[in-house]
Amino acid sequence: MADKRETGHTMPNPEMLTIGAFARACRLSPKALRLYDELDLLRPARVDPDTGYRYYATGQLEQARLVAWLRRLGMPLARIRQVGAMEPPAAAQEIRAFWARVEAETAARRDLATFLVDHLSTPPRKDTTPMTGTDLLELRYAARTDIGLVRAANQDTAYAGSRVLAVADGFGPGGAPASTAAVEALKFLDAEPLTAGSVLNLLEDAVQGAAQAVRDVAGTEHGKTGDEVTDDIGTTLTAMVWTGSRLALVHIGDSRAYLLRDGELFLITHDHTLVQSMIDEGRLTPEEAATHPQRTLLRKALGRSPATPDLRLHDAQADDRYLLCSDGLTRSVPETTIKHLLTTVPDPDATTAALIEAANANGGPDNVSCVVADVVRTQ
Ligand code: MN
Repeated sequence: MADKRETGHTMPNPEMLTIGAFARACRLSPKALRLYDELDLLRPARVDPDTGYRYYATGQLEQARLVAWLRRLGMPLARIRQVGAMEPPAAAQEIRAFWARVEAETAARRDLATFLVDHLSTPPRKDTTPMTGTDLLELRYAARTDIGLVRAANQDTAYAGSRVLAVADGFGPGGAPASTAAVEALKFLDAEPLTAGSVLNLLEDAVQGAAQAVRDVAGTEHGKTGDEVTDDIGTTLTAMVWTGSRLALVHIGDSRAYLLRDGELFLITHDHTLVQSMIDEGRLTPEEAATHPQRTLLRKALGRSPATPDLRLHDAQADDRYLLCSDGLTRSVPETTIKHLLTTVPDPDATTAALIEAANANGGPDNVSCVVADVVRTQ
């Protein structure tokens, strides 16, 4: 085998290290090196055909250390193989992307951990039982959906009840029934007495019901056309369920939830879009994403493929205002205008009307849906 080492040494016959010497030099065990060889992560420079002994070039030390570090990082073997074959700048980009994904997954688990700690530390209480010194809270809500000025049909669904708030944005040939089915599958929670402890489980079950309902719709549509079953029919779903003191949030896709609290507007959902992952991974700026040709491409939705929605619990405060909306609002109305309307129009129903009017004033390029809910003290 030709020697490919690229060190600054000028010896005509570069020194080959035995596996033991190489192991000492890169501080890995011979056992690890044999494993890397078997896994095709790091092949010896030469294997003696008679003895089977492995020999390594000193130029392979850097590679061996990189493999060891990437394994410590928890990177899957297939990905280490790819990174190992890359030039340093590309390898750096790949590691950054891998780590961004790890952090996103950790963030989702952190929300769940926070909820569990919180849940196990608070004594259970019925939402209907007044607590001394604590205000009883309830929701004032309104929902509105509009076809916009360009689309031939409205595939959005918006709903608000005394406990359930939901926005869904359907896509594909069965988009409208898909978004309706997803929201319908949550409505039974409106009639359930809910506690903060049970709500996440109930919501998770409800979302599985919603996912099944969407798959049924997609199956029916494909049955009509005889098309191959693909992921072209589905819906986003962003919904909140009220327990009397908290709001459980479920979210999948690129519809959004915002919280207006103490005059500040907070985006409390993360878009499951291709461009948002590229922003997270440092491959794209938010400005580039706004005009990216694939900016509406979803990374997750309720559809054919199973996908896990984000699930979390929010503590509500009196005077909080929540907005759930489809991308028809956020893609055509700047956040400053959304905040202005949420701050200046007191009545929830009038606010949904004003938001939709703003989207249509900017061309109404998409269906637009809004749910506005105020947390108020009961009289
Ligand atoms: Mn839309």
